[in-house]
Amino acid sequence: SALVALRGVGKRYATGTVAVQGVDLTIAEGEFLALLGPSGCGKSTLLRMIAGLDTATAGTIGWPRSGHDARGEPARDIGFVFQEPTLMPWASALANVALPLSLAGVATREAEARAAQALGNVGLAGFERAFPRALSGGMKMRVSIARALVTRPRLLLMDEPFAALDEITRHRLNNDLLALWERERFTAIFVTHSTFESVYLAQRIIVMAARPGRVAAEIAVNAGYPRG
Ligand code: ADP
Ligand code: ADP
Repeated sequence: SALVALRGVGKRYATGTVAVQGVDLTIAEGEFLALLGPSGCGKSTLLRMIAGLDTATAGTIGWPRSGHDARGEPARDIGFVFQEPTLMPWASALANVALPLSLAGVATREAEARAAQALGNVGLAGFERAFPRALSGGMKMRVSIARALVTRPRLLLMDEPFAALDEITRHRLNNDLLALWERERFTAIFVTHSTFESVYLAQRIIVMAARPGRVAAEIAVNAGYPRG
């Protein structure tokens, strides 16, 4: 069933730039969607509007099962991964991952137990006490993914998360992200300008290209094809 439905969604910034126009898109629960297109075509803007981090200036973003709308407050069951891991440098990996739970009022001991499990899920068991500066770029990104998933969100939004990493690290992270998704079946939207990455990861690719801000094509990737 539909998790989120976009109807005629548009965004015009105060500067006059029209970043997104007339986007109709229904995202099914559990699907892995890639949003593919060159820089400046409106991918981040669209993702931020879905997250509730920015408001749509046209159309509606509906959450059939939780009642959120485009003007609603940032939805609680969304995890967001940015290209920059944006970890707190003074806090351990464990404390970084536990933070969203602490903010939601979860008791420290339980928050830390769940954070340790989330770190294990991204291959970082044993790194609980490590500080961000001691971790490689790939490992910091893993911490960031653990932090986004620790609250068990229904929707994981990722904005070119691996673009700054070297190819090998990126390939490992792609594989591990797929394995995690196959295990946990959260709904995922992955923004990328890499055709390879979109085909490798996603069940469905939304291409934004020909005219900036619009969806140019939608591609179904071999569902059920054994990957990785
Ligand atoms: P992408 O993620 O595909 O690179 P963006 O959504 O970041 O695209 O940007 C789409 C268009 O909107 C670009 O022309 C960009 O310059 C413009 N834009 C993005 N953010 C803002 C902003 N905060 N204010 C004004 N224009 C913006
Ligand atoms: P990733 O692909 O996760 O970025 P790297 O290629 O940076 O990993 O590192 C390969 C392996 O080396 C990691 O999986 C980890 O086990 C180990 N490693 C990397 N950085 C550190 C560190 N600062 N301390 C201990 N082990 C590390």
